[in-house]
Amino acid sequence: MKVNEVMAKLEKKYGHEKEFLQAVHEVLESIEEVYNQHPEFDKANIIDRIVEPDRIFTFRVTWQDDKGEVHVNTGYRVQFNNAIGPYKGGIRFHPSVSLSSLKFLGFEQTFKNALTTLPMGGGKGGADFNPQGKSNAEIMRFCQAFIAELWQHLGPDTDVPAGDIGVAAREVGFMYGYYKKLARENTGTYTGKGMTWGGSLIRPEATGFGGIYFADHMLKTSNIDIKGKTVILSGFGNVSWGAAIKATELGAKVIAISGPDGYILDEEGLNQEKIDYMVELRTSNNNVVAPYAQKFPKAKFFAGKKVWEVKADIACPCAIQNELNGDDAKALVANGVICVAELSNMGCTPEAIAEFIKAKILFGPGKAANAGGVATSGLEMTQNAMHLNWTREEVDAKLKQIMKDIHGACVKYGTQKDGFINYVNGANIAGFMKVARAMLEQGLI
Ligand code: GLU
Repeated sequence: MKVNEVMAKLEKKYGHEKEFLQAVHEVLESIEEVYNQHPEFDKANIIDRIVEPDRIFTFRVTWQDDKGEVHVNTGYRVQFNNAIGPYKGGIRFHPSVSLSSLKFLGFEQTFKNALTTLPMGGGKGGADFNPQGKSNAEIMRFCQAFIAELWQHLGPDTDVPAGDIGVAAREVGFMYGYYKKLARENTGTYTGKGMTWGGSLIRPEATGFGGIYFADHMLKTSNIDIKGKTVILSGFGNVSWGAAIKATELGAKVIAISGPDGYILDEEGLNQEKIDYMVELRTSNNNVVAPYAQKFPKAKFFAGKKVWEVKADIACPCAIQNELNGDDAKALVANGVICVAELSNMGCTPEAIAEFIKAKILFGPGKAANAGGVATSGLEMTQNAMHLNWTREEVDAKLKQIMKDIHGACVKYGTQKDGFINYVNGANIAGFMKVARAMLEQGLI
């Protein structure tokens, strides 16, 4: 397999799907050497098969706003690969949603889910719908219209969606409620459900918790204690909220969060009251972070600026793809960053990753560092299948172990001769080997 040849073929076919091509290129570069040591993979043409989704559903979503106006959005579900379990992955409602972004997310999800050690395949879905400023009733109508098209392709052993950007417990509730009505069943189809109807404790915090557990493991390989380290986070959604809770609990100091309007610098560090306020900001429907500086006047708001200019020990992108570019990475490295954990999916551009690897800092790619969310979804599926609930402590202990195992897999496959751990290679190779072997064993399907 030659990366250039595979990429040339894909570019010819999917040249306009930039994010998808970016995600594939990163994986192929990492696995090229290992793949070429396994002629049995090439004989079964695993490469051409693994970069093509099993199937894609595209559909029109028609819904009515509160004024009676009729709107149309495009809905998607990309069932990428189910070699190791039912399709599993979130639903994203965001204006940037396209086939390219959902194909990249489904592709990434396949390897991320493989890394979790749980039996889950990869999928992703969503719509180019902007939930900002919509009323509760509008959100419900949209969710129902979306699921009316998709429900037949879902099921607890077929395809299990969850939340992602723009989709949290409320939206999962509206989608799952309608699914249940149409499918005439009450099973574990959908994770991230409400706690009284099958949801798992810790699921809302899980991506952030898992990300900080992962960062802690990375730091430990360099004998660095997370205690007292400064942390900057982008976003103020579920992911950065969970990360802020866990980082603070472990004794680190979260000094910055951000929104689309700029960032907040709070040198005192976040505490419980401020972390709770992140949730309030999120539910206010304005999607801006500026009010934080009015509520806590010692904090400063920097309008229109990116949080990566802040000097910190640990940086975690927690928002959207390609939110941290090469210049941002240079600024972080110049400011002495020790560890970057990608809690958003493909949060860093290839140029940014190259800067981190060149500087030999601890860089945890999303497939590994943000896998705690979907791993806890896997735990929710297990609880649903067994018809019982685990305690907070039980779920957290399992999540901790999973993050430790993912870290171990990255170290196993990513440690270079000079001792540097290339977590990008480690995560890509470990995830790929598992999926490729499963595909091989299941024949040409
Ligand atoms: N959207 C999350 C992710 O990117 C979670 C998916 C899930 O829980 O299925 O991994």
